[in-house]
Amino acid sequence: MAEEQRIVLRNADQINPAKLEDYLQAGGYQGLEKARSMSRADLIAEVKKSNLRGRGGAAFNCGLKWSFVPTDAEVSYVVCNLDEGEPGTYKDRIIVQKDPQQLLEGMAICGHAVNAKQGYIYCRGEYPYVVELLNLAIDQARSKGVLGDFNIEVRMGAGAYVCGEETALIESIEGHRGEPRFKPPFPGVSGLWGKPTVVNNVETFANLPQIVFNGADWYAAIGASTYPGTKVLTLTGDVEKRVFIEVPTNVTLREIIYNYGGGVKSGRRLKAVQVGGTSGGFIPEYLLDTPIDYDSMRSIGATLGTGAVFVMDETRDVVDIVTHIAKFFKEESCGKCNPCREGTFRCYEIMDRINRGRGTLPDIEHMIQLGKVMERVCLCGLGQASPSPILTTLQHFRYEYERKLIS
Ligand code: NAD
Repeated sequence: MAEEQRIVLRNADQINPAKLEDYLQAGGYQGLEKARSMSRADLIAEVKKSNLRGRGGAAFNCGLKWSFVPTDAEVSYVVCNLDEGEPGTYKDRIIVQKDPQQLLEGMAICGHAVNAKQGYIYCRGEYPYVVELLNLAIDQARSKGVLGDFNIEVRMGAGAYVCGEETALIESIEGHRGEPRFKPPFPGVSGLWGKPTVVNNVETFANLPQIVFNGADWYAAIGASTYPGTKVLTLTGDVEKRVFIEVPTNVTLREIIYNYGGGVKSGRRLKAVQVGGTSGGFIPEYLLDTPIDYDSMRSIGATLGTGAVFVMDETRDVVDIVTHIAKFFKEESCGKCNPCREGTFRCYEIMDRINRGRGTLPDIEHMIQLGKVMERVCLCGLGQASPSPILTTLQHFRYEYERKLIS
């Protein structure tokens, strides 16, 4: 059985997350100490070499992202995305609840690399207890002086899914309505209040203390070569055991479901797995031997991002589930761009018609056409990813749709 390998969760349930002393005794803040002994350029080069890729979903090379911040910028910011609005997704919450200081240390390492003195953690509004823990951790770190001149503040979201998108998140921190901006310019050049800003996900920051402390080569040798390291996953749905785990990125979905989750509940057959939350594609049983690294997942139309692995057994009605997801996107579309505002609305309308037994074959063809256009032209990830459940289920489970059409 593939072993769990804990980098981000190495202190989970080993230390008291509310005590800075515990974290320090477990070796905490040694990564930041080492980072501060390095020049900014060397630190960025080291992170780039580790090939740490963004754990929020898009897998962009972390060090490369940092290198976009102009070296002569007088003011720059570090922002941590803890919005985690994807339904069924909670790996970032676990990472923070188990070890909040590790996140602060990772952000301070980034602060040193891009010469930022101020960091913000944007936390979803549904996690008030996490905000409390983070504020406690920040107070303790400040009192002890471990963050040096790097300051961190927590900002709370108010329940809009789109605020997980980095530029909508930035707008929200600035006090505006959460709507995505056009990119470019990317935040690395013009982000918070127009200043260069690095936005990374919780899990990305949480990897940094160990990467800097142990070196880029150590990290690059773990898991899949193109997407090294580990991934924190939450396994839910029709499995015997619902668990959170941290595994090297070269393990397969089958290993995760059967070795860690104990297989499908009640001995039923597996119908599909959705990886990455509602915006992820549906994966049929015959593709379960695919490793979980970003590129392998992309090759089968899935996005690993949020680390949510949701298992559906043979009794699940795929069309009904996708209809509910389409409704979610229709309601969460911010409405700024036409393809998303209209597209999510139309997708739901058609899905609902098919689900109620009133759809036709042309409905399916229109939806495929619409979905493909949305993937290409929507302004942000919300609209671009929203057709994924529809398109992948039509690819792998088309018979379930056809069974519901008007005969
Ligand atoms: P993206 O590919 O546009 O950008 C990824 C990151 O790289 C961003 O920080 C962006 O600023 C930077 N970047 C990309 N190209 C750049 C360039 N040329 N120059 C400078 N910087 C550049 O993706 P995105 O829209 O930020 O995110 C989409 C992902 O979000 C999806 O893959 C999805 O899986 C994920 N997602 C995650 C959640 C969650 O809860 N974690 C929810 C929904 C979606």
